[in-house]
Amino acid sequence: MVSARPAVQALPAYKPGRNPADLARELGVDRAVKLASNEVPFPPLPAVVQALATTAAETHRYPDNGAAVLTAELSAHYGVDPAQVVPGCGAVMLCQQLAQSFNDPGTAIAFAWRSFEMYPLLAQVAGARSTQVPLVPSVPGGSADTHDLDGLAAAVDEDTRLLFVCNPNNPTGTAVRRAALERFLDRVPDTVLVVLDEAYREFVTDPDVPDGLELMRGRPNVAVLRTFSKAWGLAGLRVGYLVAEDPAVADAVRRTHVPFSVSTMAQAAAVAALRSSDEVVRRVAAVVAERDRLTAALRDRGLEVPDSQANFVWLPLGEPTAEVARALEGRGVITRPFAGEGLRVTVGTPEEDDVFLAALDDVLPGVSAPAADDVRSGAPVG
Ligand SMILES: *Cc1c(COP(=O)(O)O)cnc(C)c1O
Repeated sequence: MVSARPAVQALPAYKPGRNPADLARELGVDRAVKLASNEVPFPPLPAVVQALATTAAETHRYPDNGAAVLTAELSAHYGVDPAQVVPGCGAVMLCQQLAQSFNDPGTAIAFAWRSFEMYPLLAQVAGARSTQVPLVPSVPGGSADTHDLDGLAAAVDEDTRLLFVCNPNNPTGTAVRRAALERFLDRVPDTVLVVLDEAYREFVTDPDVPDGLELMRGRPNVAVLRTFSKAWGLAGLRVGYLVAEDPAVADAVRRTHVPFSVSTMAQAAAVAALRSSDEVVRRVAAVVAERDRLTAALRDRGLEVPDSQANFVWLPLGEPTAEVARALEGRGVITRPFAGEGLRVTVGTPEEDDVFLAALDDVLPGVSAPAADDVRSGAPVG
């Protein structure tokens, strides 16, 4: 009998989110509202649909493995050298490539926890140790919801090769500021590759939250990870990119690229999206305005909601989180629960968010109010 590597056997089985169509059918409603995966609530950009139609006629050919047109477009858009840019099959694949390129078995990957769920999994697959540094409150007396950069710097040891700072942080939406991040980067040894995961960068409105592409200048151990899945609306096409200050870092990540994993359609769509950036800026502004409205509406209900710089909000509900999520699903609203910790809710259209708020008003009075201790004790590290 064959047996998978112990590290792979120990991985949690993939648990897909509830499918809105199935849920809607179960409930006998027209459609369920999906606020679970941080997509934008708009259809694909017109230029993207056009590009997909055109490239459909070329899909009997392999894609351009080097994604030259997309790389050139990205380098022009962000004012960096093409040698610094690495497109990938979604930012998650680039996370995996980073671990493959920089982590031998027995080395370590450091990151805050709770943060993006992929980080511990990719460490496990790479045979690397996860160094998890608990979040701390962003406001006195609040829940643990933001990076502890001092703790993260202190947790770096001689085994650490890779360190992720998710800014803004998924799932809490909080962001670290320029001065704190600069101090942190000054402190981290230059043998550690610091990856600023900026999947939600486009939604940042606080001018004190730095643009990683500016911050990394002159720091060869820093790279920035971004994606077309969120603000750019291409989640279904799988395309993201890494920009490294040092072209040697980019080169190392290219070496673990799965050949042809960024499809012809993904490349063409990303180029079309970049050329529609004015429209994307308008769409992002609408999401940000709705984020502010949703945050205020939740706070009006007496709920703790940290300031979000992303396209989702975080409700640190503590113990009843899973129960609340289940009850919301029973009312046709799919959110993303982190059991025992909190609920992440994607900013939808104003209509979708009103459906969510009405469902929440229905649900909350019935759940046991979380004890302050439950909410503040932070995430179990695991
Ligand atoms: C969504 C997300 C990504 C990447 O998504 P892809 O769809 O793989 O490009 C990366 N990092 C964080 C923190 C995310 O939330």
